[in-house]
Amino acid sequence: MAKRFQNPKGTRDVLPEEQHYWRRIESVFQRLSDVYGFEKLTLPIFEETSLFQRGVGETTDIVEKEMYTFEDKGGNSMTLRPEFTAGVVRSYIQNGMASLTNPVKVWSTGPVFRYERPQAGRYRQFTQFNVEAFGEIDPALDFEVMSLAWQLYDELQFKNLSFQLNSIGCPVCRPGYLEQLKSYYHKNLHIVCDDCKSRLDKNPLRLLDCKNVQCQPTIQSAPAMKEHLCAECDDHFKTLLGYLDDMKRPYVINPRLVRGLDYYTKTVFEVWAEGIGAQNAVCGGGRYDGLAEMLGGKPTPGIGFAAGLERIVLTMQNQGVEVDPIPGPRVYFAPMGDAAKRASVRLITELRLQGIESVIGFGGRSFKALMREANRRGVRLVCIMGEEEISKNVCQVKDMEGGEQKSISLEEVIPAVKEILSAGS
Ligand code: AMP
Repeated sequence: MAKRFQNPKGTRDVLPEEQHYWRRIESVFQRLSDVYGFEKLTLPIFEETSLFQRGVGETTDIVEKEMYTFEDKGGNSMTLRPEFTAGVVRSYIQNGMASLTNPVKVWSTGPVFRYERPQAGRYRQFTQFNVEAFGEIDPALDFEVMSLAWQLYDELQFKNLSFQLNSIGCPVCRPGYLEQLKSYYHKNLHIVCDDCKSRLDKNPLRLLDCKNVQCQPTIQSAPAMKEHLCAECDDHFKTLLGYLDDMKRPYVINPRLVRGLDYYTKTVFEVWAEGIGAQNAVCGGGRYDGLAEMLGGKPTPGIGFAAGLERIVLTMQNQGVEVDPIPGPRVYFAPMGDAAKRASVRLITELRLQGIESVIGFGGRSFKALMREANRRGVRLVCIMGEEEISKNVCQVKDMEGGEQKSISLEEVIPAVKEILSAGS
């Protein structure tokens, strides 16, 4: 027997029965992007590998261990995007968006690839909704971006959301803080895990989000960035908190929130939702004021976030959020015989041109089989035609709701069907 294939580990097929969640989520974020003034930007799924090495950071887990990198036939190293921001910044610079009216606010969506250890809510191919806003340092923009994330989850009826928020400073205040953090860890080296020992030199900020139980007491007593912010970062953070307080947006200041990507400065945040176990972040983002320059552009502040759609779907399912099904067909054509088939094909084509969801029974099936299919498809009306109907130039239109059946002349079928449907909807 020929080999039967399976989808690759860490990927999933989104079957038709789950699509109503996706449609709902996509429609909410498309609308909210308009409401908040973000324009759509569509990007390639792969980019030059060095874009991510430089943009995301050589010492991050993503770049070190998780990228899908390949050499193309021209000998160039390419990588399937492991996140959106580096590509969006590349596009902003390449397309001269700095000369547009700033802030430039864009959103994108599509698949993202990371070679991670798969588990519930953690995949190797997943889908992100990503927003970025460039060219403005004003904390009101941080608030706007966070507000968009908040409204997204609010409209999707999430319960028990928590906004985790921190500031990780800037090149002025962070180096001094990192020195303090490192000297604190040097004193505690004997009690932390091996990963933390190597993080200490490579990426000390990440010491704070180690998940290892043995490292938790050390993290608890570590110096916090918030206490070491320069005047500008401190002011930025306090102004943002002021906006959040004014709008009564709940948040938790989490000094351990540092995020896994190198480019962040000042504000970092995540949205956590109950109901999806350990993988509880449904959204993460922050400010990255140095990234454009790192990628060869003019110094340009930026802020954005990415939300994972698979985790949003999982949360909605686990929290029992009801989502309307995608409407199925409303009319079924049940033809018996060639002449009836021909007349049915004519009618269904016309009906579809008028936007009425309709399907037809194929092959030479019996009346019983056709009615069984009509039932299974859950239609409201069945248009039945056999030799007798054709000879009289009529169609039997059966209303599956009331059981009533009417003989209607072929010229009248379309207006009659539309009338019944509009009266019943
Ligand atoms: P990040 O780019 O790591 O900040 O992730 C942003 C969001 O993408 C997270 O909050 C998750 O919702 C989602 N996400 C990240 N990694 C995965 C993954 N491996 N599988 C599914 N969703 C993910």
